[in-house]
Amino acid sequence: MSMASVLAQISDLVLRRDGVLSADLAQAAAPFALGRLPERLEPDEVRTLVCGFCSTGCALDVHMRRGRAVNLTPAPAYPVNAGMACPKGWEALTPLAATDRATTPYVREGGVLRPVDWHTALRTFTERFRAIKKEHGPAALAFLSTGQITTEEMALLGQVARGGMGIAGDSNTRQCMATAHVAYKESFGFDAPPFTYEDLEQSDVLVFIGANPAIAHPILWHRVLRNPRNPEVVVIDPRLTETAAAATRHVAPLPKSDLALLYGLAHILVRREWLDRDFIARHTDGFDDFARHVESFTPARVARETGLAEEQLFELAALIRPGRRVSFWWTMGINQSHEGVRAAQAIINLALMTGNIGRPGTGANSITGQTNAMGSRLFSNITCLPGGRGFEPERRAEVARILGVDVSRIPTGESWPYDRIVDEIRAGSIRALWVVATNPVHSWIDSGGLGDALEKLDCLVVQDLYHTTDTARRADVFLPAAGWGEKTGTFINSERRIGLIQKVARAPGAALADFHIFRLVAEYWGCAEGIRRWSSPEAAFRILQELSAGQPCDFSGIEGYGALQEQGGIQWPCPAGASRPAPQRRLFADGVFFHADGRARFRHGDPRQPPEGPDEDYPLALLTGRAGAGQWHTETRTGKSAVLRKLGPREAYLEMHPDDAARLGIAPHQRIRVVSRRGSASAVARPSHAIKRGQVFMPMHFPEVNALTFAAFDPQSRQPSYKMAAVRIEPSEGARAPSGAARTVRTRGRVRMRGRNDA
Ligand code: SF4
Repeated sequence: MSMASVLAQISDLVLRRDGVLSADLAQAAAPFALGRLPERLEPDEVRTLVCGFCSTGCALDVHMRRGRAVNLTPAPAYPVNAGMACPKGWEALTPLAATDRATTPYVREGGVLRPVDWHTALRTFTERFRAIKKEHGPAALAFLSTGQITTEEMALLGQVARGGMGIAGDSNTRQCMATAHVAYKESFGFDAPPFTYEDLEQSDVLVFIGANPAIAHPILWHRVLRNPRNPEVVVIDPRLTETAAAATRHVAPLPKSDLALLYGLAHILVRREWLDRDFIARHTDGFDDFARHVESFTPARVARETGLAEEQLFELAALIRPGRRVSFWWTMGINQSHEGVRAAQAIINLALMTGNIGRPGTGANSITGQTNAMGSRLFSNITCLPGGRGFEPERRAEVARILGVDVSRIPTGESWPYDRIVDEIRAGSIRALWVVATNPVHSWIDSGGLGDALEKLDCLVVQDLYHTTDTARRADVFLPAAGWGEKTGTFINSERRIGLIQKVARAPGAALADFHIFRLVAEYWGCAEGIRRWSSPEAAFRILQELSAGQPCDFSGIEGYGALQEQGGIQWPCPAGASRPAPQRRLFADGVFFHADGRARFRHGDPRQPPEGPDEDYPLALLTGRAGAGQWHTETRTGKSAVLRKLGPREAYLEMHPDDAARLGIAPHQRIRVVSRRGSASAVARPSHAIKRGQVFMPMHFPEVNALTFAAFDPQSRQPSYKMAAVRIEPSEGARAPSGAARTVRTRGRVRMRGRNDA
C-alpha cells in the first residue's frame, strides 16, 4: 500500500461522519495500528461535550456504558463540526487514562516530591506564599494560567488570585491570542471576532494569512472544502504549508514582511479606487489618515521588501477589491510577531475599506488557538475586568456590586504580562509562582534557563493533570487536577460560541476539578467570603451572565447549561429578552461597532525590522509552527495517545531547502545541530522544497525549539514573536546544551527534562 493511500485513508478516518469504520478501512488500517476500533457497544447514554483541545469547538458524543465513558463519536448535529472530528478529538478520552495521571497532591521534602493529602498540600502552598508575601511584598508572588480550563474556572481563578490573594498573573493565552485581543479592542471597540463558521462556506475569496488550518484547525479547513461557490483560496505564508499546497494561490513573502505587504495592498486599493466609500463614510473613522499612511507603500517598495513580484501584488489586490465576498483569516503567523497588533489591524483595515464585514462570507477573522482562549480573553481578570471591559471606576463599581465584594478587591489595571513575570522570576524578585495547566519550561520563548530560574523560586506550585510535565517536575507543591471530561463548565470558541463540557469520567484518585481547587485555595488563604456565590460551575456561569449583561458579549439571555446543550452551543451576544438565537450569527450586520460613536477605527503604524534577523554568523531565518493535526502544543496530552504519536513526528526535525542542505553537505535525515545566539538543539534534517532558501522550520512541539527562539514581543500586546530567529546549522552527531539552558536528554525517542527528580 502506498503512503499516499494510507494518508488518504487516515484523512477519511479523520473526517468521516458516522464514526463507524468500514470493514475495508479497518482491515487497511490494522497493519499500521492507526486507531482503536470503536467499541461496538450499545451505549446506555450519550453525553455531548465540546472538545478540549483547540478553539474550533467541535462537539463530541461520549458513549456511556454503566456509568463509564467507553467511546466517542463526533456529534452529528452540532453546528460547528456536523459529525466531523480531527485525530485529537477522536482520541480525546485517551489522555485521561494515561498512566502518569497525578492521583494525589505532592509536596517536596528533602529534594523529593512526596505524596501528601490535600490539607497538607494546601496548607504548605498558602503558608509559604503568605510568608513570602509578608517578607517581600505582594509583587514577589505571581500566577501563570491557561486557555485550557473552563470560563467559570478562569473567572474564579482571577477572583481568588487577583481579588483575594492580591497577586499578579497572566495566562498562556498571552502566547497565542493577546495580539488579536488588542487589535480588535482598538479597531472595533471590543475584543469581538465578527464571524461565524458558515462564512468559510459562503466566501468567494478566502485569504489565510499566517494560518495553516489544514493541520491546525482541520474541521474549519474541511468547511472551506465544502464551500459550494468555487472560491479562490489564497494563502499568504513564507512556507508552502499543507494549506498553501491545497490553496488556489500561494503568496510567499519574506518572513515578517507581512505588514509591508498588507499596507502595499491597501495602497493599490486606494490608488485604484477599489474601495467601498459608502461603508467607509458611514461606519469608520480615520480612513483619510490611513490612506496617507499607505501612500509610501508603493508596489516597487513593497515588492522589494517582501520579495514578491509587483504583478502578484496587483493580482492579490484585484482579488480582494469590492464586489465579491472576501473573508480574511489569520492565526499565529500574524499574532506571534514583533508587530502583530499592527499586522492584525492592517488585515482589519483591508476588510473595512472594502466593506467586507458584517455580510455572509466576509470578515477580518482571527481564528483562536486554545479551546477556551476566548473565555480567557473575556473573563480571566487579567487584561480587562470580567465581561471584557476596562478598569474604569464605574465598571469596577459595577463588577464589585455584582460580585458582592468591596470595590477595593477589584483590580485597577492590567496585570503583569507573561514576559514581565518571567523577567522578574529570572531577576529573583518573584519568589513564588503558581502555574495552572500550562508548561512554560517547554513553551516559553527563549526558554533557556527558565527551568533553572524556576528552581531558584522559594515556592513553585504546579496544578496539572500530570506530575510529569517539564514544569511539574520542578514543583515544590503539586496539585492534581481533573481534566476535560472529568468536570463541568463552558468553553467559548473562535466564533464566540459558548459550549458545554460535562463529566463523563471520574478524576483519578484525589484529583479535583480546578474549580474546586480554587475554592479550596480561597478557604486556606482566608478569602473565601468573596466567592461564596461561586458554589458550583453553573452558579458561577450565572454570575458571568450578570457580568456580561449590557456588554457586547452579553449572554445573560442563555437559560443555563440546559439551553447550551439543547441548542448546540450559543454564540454571544444573547441578551436577556431576545428571541431564541439563530444557530449561526455574525457581528456588525448593521455596521455599528463597539466604540462609543459606533464607528470602527483604522489603526496603523510604521513597520519595524524584526529585532533579530539572519546575518553573517547566523545566516538562516528560523520559522516555527505546527507539525501535524495529531499534535497539540507541548504534547502534554496528545503525547499520551499511541494513535496520535503514530500520526506525528517523534523527534525534533529541521525543514530546510535542499540547496541549503547541499551547500552545507547535509544529507536527508542526518542529525544536525541548530545553533542560535541563545543555545543549540539537536534535530534531524529534512530537506524540503516547502521552505525557501535561507529559511528553516522547526515544529513547536519539541522543547528544543525554544532553546533557539528570540524573545521579542509586540509592544502593544506583549505577545511573543515565535516566528523569527537567526540560526546556523552545523552537521553534528550530537547537540551541545546551551549554557544555562534546560538540558534535554532522549530516552528511547522520548524527551524528558533533567529536573530535581532526576538523579
Ligand atoms: Fe477538537 Fe479542534 Fe480537532 Fe475539533 S478540530 S476535534 S475542536 S482538536
